[in-house]
Amino acid sequence: MTDKIKKSDAEWQAQLSPEQYQVCRKHGTEAPFSGKYAHTKDAGTYVCACCGQELFASDAKYDSGSGWPSFWQPSSKEHVAEKQDDSHGMFRTEVLCSRCDAHLGHVFPDGPKPTGQRYCINSAALDLKKKS
Ligand code: FE
Repeated sequence: MTDKIKKSDAEWQAQLSPEQYQVCRKHGTEAPFSGKYAHTKDAGTYVCACCGQELFASDAKYDSGSGWPSFWQPSSKEHVAEKQDDSHGMFRTEVLCSRCDAHLGHVFPDGPKPTGQRYCINSAALDLKKKS
């Protein structure tokens, strides 16, 4: 199990861009088709924008048409946490970084085979480490 990273709001605010802070620490959602990784097909590893933990492999990214980066599985089940989210009059499953509790997005059961899962993730919560 990885060690948890805990920082104050002020520390996160100093470290992150305003958009990253809003999404990751304040449960924000970027506008669809606006994020920097919405259409990215580059090979590499998507890590947490807050703590650098590996979250998704580019191999698991697919075009869901939603306007947000979409993945059919995380790199490791241990690297993402899931939590029921009943906000905004919807019953959704929130996806968080297991190490720093960053809000990443939501997971829906309408993804492609083999998992049937759609991890709908904000670009602002991700940092792509391209394969060199
Ligand atoms: Fe993190």
